[in-house]
Amino acid sequence: MNNCDILIIGAGAAGLMAAHSLVKAGKNVIVLEARNRCGGRIHTLNHELFFKEAELGAEFVHGDLPVTLGLLKEAGIELAPSGGQMWHYKEGRFVQEGLFDEGWDLLAKKLKKIKKDVSINQFLEAEFPGEEYHELKTSVHRFASGYDTADPDLASTFALRDEWLNEDEGAQHRIKGGYGPMIGYLEAEIKKAGGHIVLNSVVNEIHWRAGHIKVVTVDGYAYKAEKLLLALPLGVLKATMPAQAAISFRPPIPGQMEAINKMGYGGIIKILLEFDELFWEDRQTEEWVGKSLKNMGFVLSDEEIPTWWTQTPKKVPVLTGWLGGLAANAKKNLTDEELLQQSLKSVSHIFNRSIDELKARLIAYHIVNWTNDPFTLGSYAYDTVNAAAERKILSHPVEDTLYFAGEYLYAGAVMGTVEAALMSGRDAAARMIDKN
Ligand SMILES: Cc1cc2nc3c(=O)[nH]c(=O)nc-3n(C[C@H](O)[C@H](O)[C@H](O)COP(=O)(O)OP(=O)(O)OC[C@H]3O[C@@H](n4cnc5c(N)ncnc54)[C@H](O)[C@@H]3O)c2cc1C
Repeated sequence: MNNCDILIIGAGAAGLMAAHSLVKAGKNVIVLEARNRCGGRIHTLNHELFFKEAELGAEFVHGDLPVTLGLLKEAGIELAPSGGQMWHYKEGRFVQEGLFDEGWDLLAKKLKKIKKDVSINQFLEAEFPGEEYHELKTSVHRFASGYDTADPDLASTFALRDEWLNEDEGAQHRIKGGYGPMIGYLEAEIKKAGGHIVLNSVVNEIHWRAGHIKVVTVDGYAYKAEKLLLALPLGVLKATMPAQAAISFRPPIPGQMEAINKMGYGGIIKILLEFDELFWEDRQTEEWVGKSLKNMGFVLSDEEIPTWWTQTPKKVPVLTGWLGGLAANAKKNLTDEELLQQSLKSVSHIFNRSIDELKARLIAYHIVNWTNDPFTLGSYAYDTVNAAAERKILSHPVEDTLYFAGEYLYAGAVMGTVEAALMSGRDAAARMIDKN
């Protein structure tokens, strides 16, 4: 069983999608996965002590995305609505506005005009000098680092422009049952077609020459194949020993490693707090805010954990906190307990409730520190100014033997998403089949 046509390392969306296409094409495939589960950055938790279908990683479908929707249809899984009002908590009060209400038209106009790519910070410095644009610049920073988890000194303005000007806020969805069943479907299909998925297999060494692959896991197991697909997160590919998941290539692949190291990869900490009830919908909150928050989707703030959202339109007493970008990197070594305290403090300020009350109401919580997770080591990719060149290098197989796939290889408006990963896996499989 340790020999096959194609080995895949990583059973996330990209690796599983590639395996699904390859087994359908009659290939003999083995997928090696470090964790005791498939899905990678997709992890839908159904634990009896926590609210059902809790998304510890990916949660939303950011638009009418062809590969994701196609796969869900194939699997017979339906979308669920997502939405609700966007609120800002600033200077001690709640204001209802979109992400960029202040100056969005001017920002869009200037973004459309630029001809040469620079970092988003360079763009802001050049186009919006002075204090009068402080609010606009803060919103751009918040979005680039919060949502895209990017370092604004490195993130490409062209890429952010593509994403922001193509954003379809009306077409956000969740998935009925969460993303988990989609992963379960891929797993089942791969196995049904004769593919193997080996869990708890942390790969550390890749020995290769044209047409020959030998992969060795930390436990000393060896697997052989003609070709290898690396469907690993960028954070793992960038990691060096003694990181638990770091991989050594023998012989080395310096051109590819240089491209990997130049690509942007952010940080994220996601926090799920389950309370006894939806206190943000009660009369006390309504009196404090001056309006009802019954339809609240998101609230953005300047608190330590700045972004929070609800499960609207589902009535579930859960607040999800989000800390992205450099701020998440800075807190990656905090303990869960410390992050919980900071979360409660932020919620306490935003909703004007004492920390003692929140603690008494808190039923359960999950702190998901993806930046510190040994098999992710960050959030997802963002484009730096030269990303297209890096992506081109990595989209090219090395001697038709080493192939790469993952969300970071996708070029388009929905970078850093499940769609990006699925598309990359599907395309890598097509290239592998094509070459035969
Ligand atoms: C908190 C969070 C929220 C997100 N929210 C959304 C969202 O709402 N919508 C959306 O579309 N996208 C979202 N994303 C992004 C989305 O989850 C990812 O882009 C996508 O799941 C990445 O898939 P992948 O296959 O490229 O990588 P991964 O899912 O990371 O898969 C890589 C696999 O490789 C395994 N691995 C790592 N090292 C080794 C090793 N040495 N040996 C063997 N296996 C190894 C990992 O365990 C993992 O299973 C979110 C991501 C995070 C972290």
